[in-house]
Amino acid sequence: MTSFDRNAILARLSALRAADAPTHGGHVLSYVYDSGIADLDELAAAAVRLVQPVNGLDPTTFTSVAVMEREVLGFARELLHGGDEVVGSVTSGGTESCLLAVKTAREAWRAAAGVGRPRIVAPVTVHAAFHKAAEYFDLDLDLVPVDAHTGRLEAARLIERLGPDVALAVVSAPSYPYGSLDPVEEVAAACEAAGVDLHVDACIGGWILPFWREADGSAVAPWDFRVAGVTSVSADLHKFGYAPKGASVLLQRGRDRQRLQYFATTGWPGYPVVNPTLLGSKSAGALAASWAIIQALGARGFAELAESCLRATRTLADVVADIDGLRVVGSPTGPLLAVETDDAVPEEGRVDPHHWADRARRRGWYLQLQPGLTQPDGTRLPHTTHLTITPVTRDRLDELEVALRASADEVRGEPQVDAETALAALPPLGAGPLDSDTAAGILRAVGIAGDTPGLPSDQAPLLALIEALPRPLTERLLVELLARIVEPA
Ligand SMILES: *Cc1c(COP(=O)(O)O)cnc(C)c1O
Repeated sequence: MTSFDRNAILARLSALRAADAPTHGGHVLSYVYDSGIADLDELAAAAVRLVQPVNGLDPTTFTSVAVMEREVLGFARELLHGGDEVVGSVTSGGTESCLLAVKTAREAWRAAAGVGRPRIVAPVTVHAAFHKAAEYFDLDLDLVPVDAHTGRLEAARLIERLGPDVALAVVSAPSYPYGSLDPVEEVAAACEAAGVDLHVDACIGGWILPFWREADGSAVAPWDFRVAGVTSVSADLHKFGYAPKGASVLLQRGRDRQRLQYFATTGWPGYPVVNPTLLGSKSAGALAASWAIIQALGARGFAELAESCLRATRTLADVVADIDGLRVVGSPTGPLLAVETDDAVPEEGRVDPHHWADRARRRGWYLQLQPGLTQPDGTRLPHTTHLTITPVTRDRLDELEVALRASADEVRGEPQVDAETALAALPPLGAGPLDSDTAAGILRAVGIAGDTPGLPSDQAPLLALIEALPRPLTERLLVELLARIVEPA
């Protein structure tokens, strides 16, 4: 049998991993959700290992999968106050949960003989997964502008757009860009009256808002299955469920409705196919890890970790408020902060959030840059910098505060990158779609290599371009950038 050098192979992988952004220790304030409990990570790894060869495709052959999924769903249903009529699936992540919520709603809408082309109504702040769902499943996406200063959705603005062609309304608990909690109760009441399904996207909030309090100490307004009219909720285990990537929960109210999520066929000569989710053969690893973490933490463990996040979030919000030239957008519900320029101070005192993030990056802190966006009504959402706070943030608050203050001091008065300079470097573009070589040429012309993994460490110029270029062009260029990264050399 072929022999192999285990140590050499793993040494190479370790070397590659060493170049990654740090996944533990709280230096990356997005993407990763570190509980700070090493034993919990070890437990999750052991659970993954135990189910490594299992195929999650068939829970009748691999019965452990059925038991774990049933128990994870049971815990989630209790947490989200679902009754016996609430059932669900464990999916591979938030995007898959959102895609399936839309797919289910589209089938239900068709079954109810909906008229016209099906439409999703959602605030502009809804996660991009719903843009993807609309594209994949061929629905229109009708985006409702939010308040440009607070990022909040005014319920009436969404409600007035409900109609017989609406297959699904979506609200967030909370939204990813600003941490804003949408007015779930008001929207749900109107949806129920209009006979429109309502999905609550709690991908990021689902495993932490049950233990959260508002900044004034008051309870978070109901946003889950307590609210009549809510037909489905998504909650990601691989975010504040602290599981490795590849696990989310989608709960749906009503068995008959939920069955529309499934795909089944006996119309081929192979095994009968019955898939609750998008994948066929699938890993049971993240499910097993999630299951193990839930056994280990229980509601009390989740509550304690949420408390760490809550305290760290309050402290960081105070720190940002105290930095001249920056402010937090709106009043977030949950462990997320979006930071924008405080334009109430004179120009020389303002801090651009993207320059700020780039300076923090040089100090080893990875904040996430979010571009500004013009809403359908013409109002402009500011460019911001996003921070997701995790339990470990609490142990690093002093260091982080120093970095955030020093970074602001360095760039105070420096305006946002002017994309016009980069735009001027653009070669003239012909009509029609770009081919990949032209796209790669443009990327080089604007100073982004496009053939080495990773981006320039200062991202403010890239974000300025993203804001300045026409959307289809930016999207095509970003596709090129990512595609080139994995092309065999
Ligand atoms: C993360 C997130 C998603 C998408 O989830 P992925 O796990 O990244 O696929 C959807 N909605 C919200 C609000 C999120 O925060």
